[in-house]
Amino acid sequence: MSAILDKQHDLPAFRQAIRDWLAEVVPPDWKARMVKANNEEYIAFQRWWMQERSKVGLAIPHWPKEYGGAGLSLRHLIAIADEMARADAPTARMFTISLIHLPGTLFPHGSEEQKRRYLPGVAQGVVWCQGFSEPNSGSDLASLRTRAVRDGDHYVVNGQKIWSSYSMYADWCILLTRTDPNAQKHRGITYFIMDMRSPGVEVRPIRQANGRSEFGELFLTDVRIPAENMIGAENNGWRVAQATLASERGVIAFEGAERQRYEVEGFYRKSLETDAAWLRDDQLRREFMSYLAEIQAGRRLLRKLLEENEKPDASASVLPAIVKLSGTALRQRLTSFMTRMAGIDGQEFSLLAEEPLGAPMSDFMGSFTGTIAGGTNEIMRNIISERGLGMPRI
Ligand SMILES: Cc1cc2nc3c(=O)[nH]c(=O)nc-3n(C[C@H](O)[C@H](O)[C@H](O)COP(=O)(O)OP(=O)(O)OC[C@H]3O[C@@H](n4cnc5c(N)ncnc54)[C@H](O)[C@@H]3O)c2cc1C
Repeated sequence: MSAILDKQHDLPAFRQAIRDWLAEVVPPDWKARMVKANNEEYIAFQRWWMQERSKVGLAIPHWPKEYGGAGLSLRHLIAIADEMARADAPTARMFTISLIHLPGTLFPHGSEEQKRRYLPGVAQGVVWCQGFSEPNSGSDLASLRTRAVRDGDHYVVNGQKIWSSYSMYADWCILLTRTDPNAQKHRGITYFIMDMRSPGVEVRPIRQANGRSEFGELFLTDVRIPAENMIGAENNGWRVAQATLASERGVIAFEGAERQRYEVEGFYRKSLETDAAWLRDDQLRREFMSYLAEIQAGRRLLRKLLEENEKPDASASVLPAIVKLSGTALRQRLTSFMTRMAGIDGQEFSLLAEEPLGAPMSDFMGSFTGTIAGGTNEIMRNIISERGLGMPRI
């Protein structure tokens, strides 16, 4: 057991051990380096960071021990997220599907064999991607057309997926397919685990407007997936997919909000030190204060969400939609403000669209991804109005 996990029964000592470890291991210049990094350097850096977390038991600390975790509680997880945010430690975006969506799916719906086979690899740096969206099925995911046809003890898959984050580096994919084209669209879907090295899987990186490629398109031609790789039952994949989509609730957003809070405090401190001009402008000061208030309100909402997640009926709540909508919209306005206030010095541009790097223009451009990924903000508004407010569906 690592020196950090040794302290798990004394929360303040546990926090201090994380703080000491972070001070020792996180390169102080990591953000400056990553602003200038190329694709390969960024990927290598993320793999290195996952290994470091793994060495001290902080890669998947809250998972049960039998699946490679340390069995820590939500309180520990919050402490870890808070310390990571406080230290402005690197994130591990390439591992988001591995760390969040895979367990969020396998814990409730995977067989015992699937859990034991696939979960422990995550701490060793196995990369998973998500093959849900298709060229004509994004918000309306249930209309997906990638076809899987049973052939003996395999399924043969043909179709196309798009916007699959980091699929160029992925070992495995959680994949949605249509197995019954005659059933109602939500009913004929089946969920699989696909080996990305299977014959017939072709990944084409998508070149983004900023020149970088963080997504891939998957072209699937006669890909044979063993029937044992099905998660849940045939034609019941929509239900399983709800668990995947719901898994983003909570801690990941909590850490993001805490990071934002420290980032804004740092921005304010720096503005005071440099006697920034905006501090003497009433309107700009008011604008900044309104963001501070929204940040605090967002942090409260997240605490409520984490408490709610512990309850058995959490899946019916619209709070995740409220958190996502308000948090991503705030991120856009806040990073716009910081870019404007930084003037010419804030125009440094990184090719890392998804990573908040403290380079204002880059962070502003990156903020748009949050309003689309995992369900667009328009879809969040639909959920809130229909399920939360009981407004009619049109
Ligand atoms: C950073 C990022 C990472 C992603 N990673 C993955 C991944 O790993 N795997 C994966 O499968 N997908 C991934 N996606 C894709 C993402 O899930 C889709 O982009 C998203 O679901 C929207 O689908 P779409 O792009 O097809 O847009 P569309 O659904 O075509 O929507 C286009 C516009 O119409 C609006 N709209 C659509 N339907 C409605 C409606 N009913 N009411 C009101 N407005 C509506 C939308 O809000 C949007 O503005 C990622 C996206 C981003 C930005």
